[in-house]
Amino acid sequence: MAPSTVVAEFCERLDAADPETAARRAAAWLHVCMGRTAPPIEPYHAARLVGIRDVRELALPCAGMLVPIRAGGFIARIKRSDPLARRRFTLGHEIGHALLAGPRHVQHRRPVTCAQALDVETLCDQIAAELLMPSPAFEEAAGRVRRVADVWALARQFQVSFRAVAVQMARRDIPVAVVRWRRKSLPKKPEALRVEWQSSPRGVFIPLRASAAGDSLVTAAFTSQQPARGRERLDLGTLRGEYEVDAVPWSSSRVGPAEVLSIIQLRPTPADAGEPAAWRLSSVRDAPHDQTHS
Ligand SMILES: [Zn+2]
Repeated sequence: MAPSTVVAEFCERLDAADPETAARRAAAWLHVCMGRTAPPIEPYHAARLVGIRDVRELALPCAGMLVPIRAGGFIARIKRSDPLARRRFTLGHEIGHALLAGPRHVQHRRPVTCAQALDVETLCDQIAAELLMPSPAFEEAAGRVRRVADVWALARQFQVSFRAVAVQMARRDIPVAVVRWRRKSLPKKPEALRVEWQSSPRGVFIPLRASAAGDSLVTAAFTSQQPARGRERLDLGTLRGEYEVDAVPWSSSRVGPAEVLSIIQLRPTPADAGEPAAWRLSSVRDAPHDQTHS
């Protein structure tokens, strides 16, 4: 079956107009079955509901794998060396594959590894995100995010990664952009703090590898190795104007601080009153969702 047919069939089964709605409904169904909508959600419990009979943590070359068994159902294999938040998300993703497979496809299929078509992988990630960050508890908590530390707090509360929180905030149109900056040089360009990764709501575009201005809060946080916070003028993709920014130095490895995490508030602030806001949620709410999250 072609991947797009798999996704279309899943949407039809859930009477959903698009994959995002289907993912939400599937997760909501699992929450009802588990009798739980408050974090942290236990994916090991949800796995049993979709026919995953055992979850085995092993040394794997990929994050996870779903293996159908002869007796019916599946065994999920999860990469043992991944952090707990990642392992939980991977299991949520495999739960997605189990839901997509449906009971009549269970037997004698090859293992489902994470090298399937992009739309299937994206849908399984959405199912994992909706399962682990249930609505409306997530939106309510995410709506209060003002600083980088708030995203870390959500990651702890929902037991998912920082990145998973940022991606879900974007999907839920929380008016905040999360940007990870890394010091790097490009061919024929000087070394600078550049956008390594970003997650922002639909209608906002922040180009990868765009550099931070020398006098920006992000640069100040990197140079001083102290958090920097305030209001500053940005010229970053579609973000042009004044924004509240919170920047925090961060290191993803033991080699030393090389990165900065920043939050850009997209909500109109009192200073915007009476003049056109550089970005308004209402004007882009109906725009097509053109982001693909891995
Ligand atoms: Zn996958």
